[in-house]
Amino acid sequence: MIARRPAGLSSVAPTRRRFLHCSAAAGLAGAGLATGFCLCGSGDARAASLPFEEVEDGVFLRLGRQEMANADNGGAIANIGFVVGAASVAAIDTGSTRQEGEALLAAIASVTDKPISHVIATHVHPDHGFGHAAFAGSDADFIGHRRLPDALTERGPFYLEQLAELLPDAEGTEVVTPTVTVEDRLEIDLGDRVLVLTAWPAAHTDSDLTMFDGKTGLFWASDLLFADRLPTLDGSLAGWIAAMDTLIPADAALVVPGHGAPGEGRAALMRQRDYLAGLRQAVRAAIDDGLDMTETVAALGDGASGSDSRNWLLYEENHGRNIVAAYAELEWE
Ligand SMILES: [Zn+2]
Repeated sequence: MIARRPAGLSSVAPTRRRFLHCSAAAGLAGAGLATGFCLCGSGDARAASLPFEEVEDGVFLRLGRQEMANADNGGAIANIGFVVGAASVAAIDTGSTRQEGEALLAAIASVTDKPISHVIATHVHPDHGFGHAAFAGSDADFIGHRRLPDALTERGPFYLEQLAELLPDAEGTEVVTPTVTVEDRLEIDLGDRVLVLTAWPAAHTDSDLTMFDGKTGLFWASDLLFADRLPTLDGSLAGWIAAMDTLIPADAALVVPGHGAPGEGRAALMRQRDYLAGLRQAVRAAIDDGLDMTETVAALGDGASGSDSRNWLLYEENHGRNIVAAYAELEWE
């Protein structure tokens, strides 16, 4: 059992790692053991062939690429995975497209023939929950934050348009609305394995859900924690900074961020806090100085928020947007 490990996949003990490759999953699918299939050889073979790794006993993770979604990566940029209990399986996040969801189905089928009882979306962003289409029509409960149905209604059509433009192989991708919502906290039992789902006040988005596996101590933070990649603000800066105080359970043994490698989580959390607190401080100061939003982006766009800002992955792509989001929130303080 790997209880703790520093961030970085290379640090995972090779003897403990259990990889599931697309070809193996496809072979099992062909043998009639799978409910899904694998898209090796298709246009988004890269997305479908990224390996799943057993990071804790019965918990499988596929790391997303630390990139913006594009045709080359097929939208496989977020961490997705599944948990196997004695009676059934829960999928947690399913990727950007039906095709990613189908690769997840194949990975599940390659390790167990237990039914999939739950499909969890950790928030509204399409890189996490739009692979649900592959699970649509199954008997599984589709679980999300109490705000997720409204958020999907508001943004779903726009996200589908974006995905269709960015990802040539997004065909068949659709919005799947939760059938079960989490008000504050929900326990689901996979058989000898209880997962605790927590619905957070607005932070990264207004529909953030985390998952704690009591059996192994694995905490799935999803996008309330970014490792190495710049955090993106789409909910509440004040809410996110507050949420970080209690985000990681004291007994968490392994923390899975929404983007980046799993680890003990606290160092990544500290770095994220520095960035977000620095962003708040800098934008507040700009507002106090009478700068408008455009002037603030111009003034802060090159790394005024936190000393190591520029060392984050995808900094150029996302820092300006974070300033805009922070300004829109803070100008009404
Ligand atoms: Zn997100």
